[in-house]
Amino acid sequence: MFARQRWTGQKSNYKLNLLKKYNNLCFEPGNIVRLNSFYNNVFIIEIYFLSLQKINNYIMKQLKERILRDGKSLEGGILKVDNFINHQMDPILMREMAKELVRRFANHQVNKVMTIEASGIAPAIMVGDCLNVPVLFAKKKTPSTMDNMLVTEVFSFTKNKSYTVCVSGDYLGEGDRVLFIDDFLANGNAAKGIIDLVKQAGATLEGMGFLIEKGFQSGGEELRSRGIHVESLAIIDSLDNCAVTFR
Ligand code: 5GP
Repeated sequence: MFARQRWTGQKSNYKLNLLKKYNNLCFEPGNIVRLNSFYNNVFIIEIYFLSLQKINNYIMKQLKERILRDGKSLEGGILKVDNFINHQMDPILMREMAKELVRRFANHQVNKVMTIEASGIAPAIMVGDCLNVPVLFAKKKTPSTMDNMLVTEVFSFTKNKSYTVCVSGDYLGEGDRVLFIDDFLANGNAAKGIIDLVKQAGATLEGMGFLIEKGFQSGGEELRSRGIHVESLAIIDSLDNCAVTFR
C-alpha cells in the first residue's frame, strides 16, 4: 500500500504501465524479483524495495500485536487464536499476511497452493488468490467418490492422535510446483504429510509458508535442515507460564 502511493507521479509511470500490461503485474510485494530481472531499473526497484520493507514490518507488527491482544496461551504449549485466525477470521489481516508470504516465495515458480483442512484453508485461499493459482486441500475424511486417491497419515499435535488425509491424484501430478500454506508450524507433522503426498504424486515442493511458527517445537528446524524453503510470519520462542515471547 505504501508502494502504490509512491509509484504514482513518478516520471517513469509509462514504464510501470508497460510492466503491468506485459507481465500482468499488480505491484503486489511478490513481484519485486520479476520486475528487477526484466527491466533492471535500479531507481524503481530501490523505492519499491524500501516500501516493501515498510509493508513487511507493518504486517509483522500487526500480527504480533494481534497475537498479544487476542491470542490465549494455553497449557501444553498451545496458542489459541480463534478470535482472528482459527474460528472468527480477520480477512484484512489474512490478506496482508498472504501477500507477505507471496513476496517471500517470489523466487519460486508456484502453480499450486496446498494445505490441510480446516484451519489452513483460509490463508491458503488468500495466497492462491494473490498468485492466481488453484488451491488444493488435503481432506481428513476419505470420500468414497474420490478418484485416484493419494493417502497419508498425519499425527495431530493439538488432538494427540493420528488421522488419515487424502487428495485426488487428478489434482496433484508431475507438473505441479507446490507451495504449502498452513496456520501453524509446530512439530511439522502436517507438513510431513504433505511432503509425502507431493512425493507420491511426483510433484515438486517449492516451499512451505506458515502464519505462526512455534520455534520451541521441532518442525521448523527439521524442515529447514531438509533444505526446504520455510517461511513463518511470526516465530514464537516460548509460551512458558502462558506468556508469549517472540523471536
Ligand atoms: P504440526 O503438524 O506442525 O505439529 O502442527 C501443525 C498443525 O497443528 C496446524 O495445522 C495447526 O492447525 C495445529 N496446531 C499446532 N499447534 C497449534 C497451536 O498452538 N494452536 C493452534 N490453534 N493450532 C495448532
